[in-house]
Order: sequence, then C-alpha cells, then structure tokens
Amino acid sequence: MTSKPVQQLKIHGREQTQVRVIADGDAAPSEDENPYWLGEDGDDEVPAPERGCIQRGLCCKSSPGWFAPGEVEKAAEILGIAPDVLVRSKLVVDRIEIDGQIVHTFAPVKLDRFGKPAFATGKVVDELYRMLKGTCVFYDGKGCQIYAARPLECARYLCSQPAEKNLSHEELARMWQQAG
Ligand code: SF4
Repeated sequence: MTSKPVQQLKIHGREQTQVRVIADGDAAPSEDENPYWLGEDGDDEVPAPERGCIQRGLCCKSSPGWFAPGEVEKAAEILGIAPDVLVRSKLVVDRIEIDGQIVHTFAPVKLDRFGKPAFATGKVVDELYRMLKGTCVFYDGKGCQIYAARPLECARYLCSQPAEKNLSHEELARMWQQAG
C-alpha cells in the first residue's frame, strides 16, 4: 500500500502535505493526515489561489461534488456498508445531458437546516438539487467522513482558482459514459 504526497500547501502559515490516494488498495490517511476542513477561516474574502485550500468548509456546506466511477464502492467500504445501502441512505442520483444522451451520476445528498436529507436518497434529483445549497451528508463539522474516497469533483475543487480549472460535470459525465 503506497500513498505519496503530491502537493505542498501553505495553510494559515503552516506547511501541510496534501495526501492523495493514488491506486486501489492504498492506505487511507489517518485522522491526523486528513487536511480537509479542520476549521474555518472566518474570512469572507476569496483566498489567494497560491494558498491552496484553506479549509473554510464552504463548499462542503453548500455543494457536494459528484463521484467518479468506482468511488461509491470505495466510500461504502470506508463506511463499512454495502454500496447499494450507501446509495439508498446517503446519495442521490444526478444527471446531465451529454451529446443528446442522459448520463446519471451519484452525489452526496444535501442536508436541510434540521440536519435531515433535503432530497429523497437513492432517487434521481431535479434542478432544485443543483440550485439549493445544503451541507453535505458526509461533512461532520470538522472534516469529510469519507476523505480517502471523497468524490473526484471534491478532490479536484479549489474555490479560489478559475472555474475552468475545476473538474466540470461534463468531464465527470464522460467518465461515467466511458465506464458504461
Ligand atoms: S464528500 Fe467530503 S469533501 Fe465532498 S462535499 Fe462532502 S464532506 Fe466535503
């Protein structure tokens, strides 16, 4: 099992190593290694891109990302449940039209202000899911519960960089298309 640091980030003046799982069977990072959302900045300004992720948790509290093929199974393994149970209890099915074809994907359900799923889990969602902000079901207030298998869109997302540098839904949908 191997994982390797791929990026050195400066966060709040501290140097922090971001670890990414690079292949099936790689070790999941320990709690100490999980750099995701340990705290909030409290700063409403858009951070400088060179600071990297500064762990404000804003995206986890508004728009969870789409999974890539194979990631739902890994997330289920981390949680110790079967993939279909995970889908039925914590995920929604989103969709996008690509080249005239509807492609379905999985995403974490957003929670309402009472901490309950704001959408029916295990079901296809409509435009409202994308329009309404909501805390991700996997965000526990200080970190991502499925960090080692977080959706690829989450792993690639950086709020401070130009949108075109983040992974688009179209790119993710094409991965699902190719996966069949
Ligand atoms: S899956 Fe994890 S990284 Fe993605 S929005 Fe939810 S808590 Fe944040």
